[in-house]
Amino acid sequence: MGARHRIGALSVAVVAATGVVLSPATASATHPAPGRTPLATGYGGAVVSDTVESTQAGLAVLRRGGTAADAAVAVAATLGVTDPFVAGLGGGGYFVHYDARTGRVSTIDGRETTPRAGDDKMFIDPATGQPYPFTTAVTSGLSVGVPGMLATWERALEKWGRFSLADTLRPAIDVADRGYPLTPALRGQIVSNEARLKQFTSSAELFLPGGSVPAVGAVLRNPDLAATYREIARTGTRAFYGGAVGRDVAEATQNPPLAPDATITPPKGRMTVADLKAYKTIDQAPTHMRYRGLDVYGMAPSSSGGITVGEALNILETSDLGGLDRTQALHRYLEASKLAFADRGRYIGDPRFVDVPQRALLSDVFAASRACLIDPTRVIPAPAAPGNPAAPGSCAPARGTEAPDNEVHTNHFVVSDARGNVVSYTNTIEQLGGSAIVVPGRGFLLNNELTDFNFAPTQGTAPDPNLPAAGKRPRSSMSPTIVLKDGRPWLALGSPGGSTIITTVLQILVNRIDLGMSLPDALAAPRASQRNTAATTAEPAFISAAGGLTALGHAFTPQAEIGVAAAIEFTGHGKLLAVGEPTRRGGTSAGVVFPTR
Ligand code: GLU
Repeated sequence: MGARHRIGALSVAVVAATGVVLSPATASATHPAPGRTPLATGYGGAVVSDTVESTQAGLAVLRRGGTAADAAVAVAATLGVTDPFVAGLGGGGYFVHYDARTGRVSTIDGRETTPRAGDDKMFIDPATGQPYPFTTAVTSGLSVGVPGMLATWERALEKWGRFSLADTLRPAIDVADRGYPLTPALRGQIVSNEARLKQFTSSAELFLPGGSVPAVGAVLRNPDLAATYREIARTGTRAFYGGAVGRDVAEATQNPPLAPDATITPPKGRMTVADLKAYKTIDQAPTHMRYRGLDVYGMAPSSSGGITVGEALNILETSDLGGLDRTQALHRYLEASKLAFADRGRYIGDPRFVDVPQRALLSDVFAASRACLIDPTRVIPAPAAPGNPAAPGSCAPARGTEAPDNEVHTNHFVVSDARGNVVSYTNTIEQLGGSAIVVPGRGFLLNNELTDFNFAPTQGTAPDPNLPAAGKRPRSSMSPTIVLKDGRPWLALGSPGGSTIITTVLQILVNRIDLGMSLPDALAAPRASQRNTAATTAEPAFISAAGGLTALGHAFTPQAEIGVAAAIEFTGHGKLLAVGEPTRRGGTSAGVVFPTR
């Protein structure tokens, strides 16, 4: 039996290999893991990503003369090892790139697609005629989209790389072979997914070796993933898109290896090797809008990120946020977001399947027709109705339908190189742990991205732009963003967090641009996410300072953490300020090639 048939567990050793010792007694998910620094300043290139190993992998590629794109592929591949519940070969994402030579921002849409056998009824249970319960779809082969991750890496290298795919996979292979210490954050993710992982023999063997969750500080290895990466390095991406790895992926979606004591009967997936062979990334023009003299570039549909962040900024630009008191500034931030989310729900889907009025949604005329709904003395009743970008006009608030999204997890990272190229890349397997199905013998989890579709129409009598169809990409919220000032990069940023991604990016921009915060403060500040629901989801520290907002009628639902942002600010003369999270997701890792103090 070859590597492909071997069911490989993460081999677990207690410490030693990397010399990093974490004491379970002192480690906690609320404190940064040792070795993680959320802040770095210096020159020559920067990386901010979730884990120490992935940031170091990117910096190593930059030091060897790699471009930002080369380093980004190394980071993404290493995240597949060290951040397996939110990254890796089984997922997809959106890659935004600034090219220093041409001064242009371009993007790659590497979103998962629906298998050819999918249709608008695929999430309707034939036994009941009703949509599957969300949790049923989440842990199933049915929700697995055709992964775009590896194709994105290949396309990025083709366009902007100097290194081969094999070169950029090497750091990830090393980490997978050598092992890495289990952080409190990753351990927490395994614990919260334990019941799901136990449903599948391959998943339990990989993440619950010996039947239990490894201790913080245990060294995790993933020889199956190292072998998968080696196979791809040797034979190219066709190993995945039609070859042996792809066959295993398709088989795992159609016949996931259910444990003998499994308590679920998941609906079967419909992905075939032909779907994998047919997968194509899209070179997608970015969204672009001007905000207070800056050029903001984001991700166009199939992500709703660029348009929704852009529309909200356009609405906010109609008032001088910096000149308002804190309550009024935050009130406008929440209301602009609410209105932009109403429009997102009504108009945004995969543009190859629905007509998305992108220009109109990002126009100042439309923003003015939405901004006039904001009342400084009271909250707009939610859910607000969408506007009409084809005929913006009346300013009467109307009620719409609520379509709350789940908020789960993903990862975002940023990279810059010595030449001045910049990458802002959000990628995901959708929910924390994706479908919970590890491809047997391959060492990675499959996404459940198709749960980002609406299972049934959500827009009343209006058409729903986000119903599934064969080949269609589910609407995303991912918002990798690059901001130029005077035509040169000034900020690169993004975050995970389902639909809260949009508000996290928006809030950081408002904090940095309008409210006078430094970039580290703009990231660390308590977050609030208004997505056209009656209550705003907010971190406890935001709520405790929100008395003025409550008086205007805002209500809050607490959530411990919103988003896990990563950003770089280009502060002039080649100097870089690389900023991660001091505490969210246990703290993230920023590094620069030549550090200064
Ligand atoms: N699937 C989500 C999206 O594309 C991202 C996953 C998450 O962060 O929850 O918007």
